[in-house]
Amino acid sequence: MEGLTVQGLTEEEQAIVEAVRAFVDRDVKPVARDLDHNDTYPERLIDQMKHLGVYGLAIPEPWGEARVSTPCYALITEELSRGWMSLAGAMGGHTVVAKLLLDYGTDEQKDRYLPRMATGELRATMALTEPGGGSDLQAMRTHAARTADGYVINGSKTWITNARRSGLVALLCKTDPAATPAHQGISILLVEQGPGFILSRDLPKLGYKGVESCEIAFDDCHVPHTALLGGREGRGFAQMMRGLEIGRIQVASRAVGVGRAALEDALRYAQERESFGQPIWKHQSIGNYLADMATQLTAARQLVLYASRRYDAGERADMEAGMAKLFASETAMQITLNAIRIHGGYGYSTEFDVERYFRDAPLMIVGEGTNEIQRNVIVRQLIGRGTVAP
Ligand SMILES: Cc1cc2nc3c(=O)[nH]c(=O)nc-3n(C[C@H](O)[C@H](O)[C@H](O)COP(=O)(O)OP(=O)(O)OC[C@H]3O[C@@H](n4cnc5c(N)ncnc54)[C@H](O)[C@@H]3O)c2cc1C
Repeated sequence: MEGLTVQGLTEEEQAIVEAVRAFVDRDVKPVARDLDHNDTYPERLIDQMKHLGVYGLAIPEPWGEARVSTPCYALITEELSRGWMSLAGAMGGHTVVAKLLLDYGTDEQKDRYLPRMATGELRATMALTEPGGGSDLQAMRTHAARTADGYVINGSKTWITNARRSGLVALLCKTDPAATPAHQGISILLVEQGPGFILSRDLPKLGYKGVESCEIAFDDCHVPHTALLGGREGRGFAQMMRGLEIGRIQVASRAVGVGRAALEDALRYAQERESFGQPIWKHQSIGNYLADMATQLTAARQLVLYASRRYDAGERADMEAGMAKLFASETAMQITLNAIRIHGGYGYSTEFDVERYFRDAPLMIVGEGTNEIQRNVIVRQLIGRGTVAP
């Protein structure tokens, strides 16, 4: 396509990706290891991301200024994640909520939240998972009872990313627990922190450090009727399933970023390190690892870009986003393990970054719907569509 880069980006979009790449090399790479090891919230880096416009990438005028295509958004996410996956995690749920507001919000809801979300002044997250389960969302127990002046929410959510620092939570909950099928009783409420919204604890975890993952308890938490996304009950499950398409593209891009970081480190190390009188990449086993890692990573990125283009075309993209998330996350896991192999003993050292990539990679297998669930989504669509033709 004329005027577009090989990835399908405009020149302006390419310039944004390059600005984020420069930010990652200059400001993120040198500090990521310490921030991760000390589990420190990256306040300064998040501020820089706000200035770069990262929180407004999905938000068009009149609310935002720097909306980009989904392929561009994916490549920016990859760059951030290449530096430190936690940074990309801190803007993933935010984008899903922005898309939910754009696609389903009332005018009042858009005007209230989107301008401040575009600058990053207001940060948003989504709350689906409950202590009793995240895959079987229709069995959720959090309940919002309608009253004369709004809703009263009771229940609990867990693993909610960035909840402590988010001023807005898109809460998936039941407004009609007796509905059959159950999804017809599910709605999304736009909840701001206040009385009855209790951040009970931050969960300890293997990787994805620095950015908090929280349990939230709702204890007679009141919200007005205007908090109901789109103003109609019973639409929340379908709304969130569409929202998760961009969420899964984002998680897949994070996986590509982590995989790329691991490959780049392994590539450099394999040229510097020598054994038996030659750089280790010349040993066929190591060279084969590198060749396979690069091939898988390139395939993963192409799946992400394919899902992104389909999403932008307004077509149903759950199968494509699911394939991208499934393949990219399993690929990242494999690449980070091979990067450890290539680094030998140093791969196991906390003085190198590859151990961090290896700890961060599994999140993309579990988050935004586990890979087992992705396979369920893919096969259901395969049977329904009867084809994988382009
Ligand atoms: C660091 C982190 C951040 C997260 N951030 C968020 C967030 O911001 N918001 C949010 O809402 N959630 C978040 N999550 C939660 C995440 O989405 C869930 O953990 C995930 O959806 C799985 O739910 P579960 O943990 O309850 O596992 P379960 O649903 O209990 O599943 C357990 C196992 O059973 C398998 N399984 C379950 N049902 C099926 C089935 N039908 N077919 C095949 N296999 C099945 C699963 O694949 C898994 O292997 C986060 C999780 C982590 C670890």
